[in-house]
Amino acid sequence: MRILIVEDEESLARNIQRLLQDEKYHAECALDGNSGLELALTEEYDLIILDVMLPGKDGFEIIRQLRREGLDVPVIMLTARNQVEDKVRGLDEGADDYLTKPFAVPELLARVRSLLRRKSEVSASLMELGDLAIDTAAKLARYREQTIVLTPKEYSILEFLFYNKNRVVSRLSIAEHVWGDQMDLFTMTNFVDVHIKNLRKKLGPGARYIQTVRGLGYMLKEAE
Ligand code: CA
Repeated sequence: MRILIVEDEESLARNIQRLLQDEKYHAECALDGNSGLELALTEEYDLIILDVMLPGKDGFEIIRQLRREGLDVPVIMLTARNQVEDKVRGLDEGADDYLTKPFAVPELLARVRSLLRRKSEVSASLMELGDLAIDTAAKLARYREQTIVLTPKEYSILEFLFYNKNRVVSRLSIAEHVWGDQMDLFTMTNFVDVHIKNLRKKLGPGARYIQTVRGLGYMLKEAE
C-alpha cells in the first residue's frame, strides 16, 4: 500500500510518515502543493493525506485537479481547527474524509485503515463497462441501477468476458472455462452459443456490450 503525505510542516509530515511505515505502509512526503500534485498525478497511490494550507497549490486546488483528471484515489484532508467551511469544502471537492488538526495518531491510522478497506472492497467486487457491471461477490449482473439475475453458467460466461474485456475470446476457451473437461468440445461450444443467446436476452440493452466476432468468438467491448 502506497500512501502520499502532502504537508508543509516537515516535522508533522515526517512523523506521519514514520507512523505509517511502522504499520508497514509505504509512505512518501511532499512538502509543498506543487510537488504534491505532481507526485499524485504521476505516481500511483492507494491513499493521499492532504493538508489544506500549503505553499504553492493549496489542498483544495490539488483535490479538484485530481478529480478532474479522473483519479479516484481516496483522500483524507487535514483541516485547521474550527474551520467548518474547510471541511465542507474539502468534501465538496471530492475528499473522502477529513481530520482536524491537531489529531491523535490512532485516529489517523483508523481513518487510513478504514478508507483502504472500503477501497479494496469496492474494487475487488465490482467490475464495470459502461452501464454494465458485475458484482463478483454476489455473482450478479447490473445494468444501470437494475439487478439482473443470471444462472451460474451465464454468470460465469459474463465474468469470463469481463476478465477478458476488449479481447476476443473463442467459444472453445469460454467452454473450457465454464465446463472444464466435463463434456466433448462440440457439445460445449454449441452450449456456449445457447448460453450467450440467453445471456443477451436477460441483459436487454446491456447486450450491446457483447459482440460476436465472426469465426472467432465473442468480445466484451464498449459499444460504439
Ligand atoms: Ca500547512
